[in-house]
Amino acid sequence: MKSEVFDGNAENNDGDARAGNGISEVVWAQPVRWDKIRRLYENDARGVVDEMLVEDVGLALYLRCRSILTVMAAAGGQVACPRCEREGVTSTIVRIGKDNSAASRAEELRCARCGWWTTWGQYWQTYRNRQLYGAGGVEAFRTFLAGFDRARSARDKVHAIDRLIHSFHYNLKAGAKEHTPSRPAAANVIEGSLGEVVAFLDQLTYGDAVTEEMRRTRAAYEERLPHTWAGARYSPPK
Ligand SMILES: [Zn+2]
Repeated sequence: MKSEVFDGNAENNDGDARAGNGISEVVWAQPVRWDKIRRLYENDARGVVDEMLVEDVGLALYLRCRSILTVMAAAGGQVACPRCEREGVTSTIVRIGKDNSAASRAEELRCARCGWWTTWGQYWQTYRNRQLYGAGGVEAFRTFLAGFDRARSARDKVHAIDRLIHSFHYNLKAGAKEHTPSRPAAANVIEGSLGEVVAFLDQLTYGDAVTEEMRRTRAAYEERLPHTWAGARYSPPK
């Protein structure tokens, strides 16, 4: 599984750069490649189930969603120690700062269990501008993780994948009578810019073999897609 590894020596480092800093242990799962998703739908359209491919795409999405939820928790003040996590242990570091101000960025995060540490500024730099932050989409990512865990057949897994990449971020402003779809959640889990991902989803093949459930998911997606994103220009991947 390929992952994004943050270069702790990058020029845009923020905060402390003392030796021994554990920032290089903060690793995020990459968004999923277009060609894999495309093949999944082409297969489905022909009634073919490639279990290896379903597993491959599903696992990549699973790890990506987990990365997003880890980032969201950290932004909210609860940073999971990456070193403990690799040992299968959950150890949470509670931040004092609640924003990304200079004072908050200088805050040292230190795991009481294993001694891993970095600064909030450095941690923040590992995820910003990487489509890993998405408050309004948290429910969609959680739903996928639960659905994929429950799925037994390859068909169930395809449905869980299909629902995830056709789900939305919602406007969660307090007092809003109805949650408004703000942007497609697919942009967090599939490679490319938001416009590219919307255009890519438009091009997915739906053949005669597609299930009723997938047709309904697609129809609901098209109905909710904010008009600003509909008809985005298609730019094939390089
Ligand atoms: Zn730890």
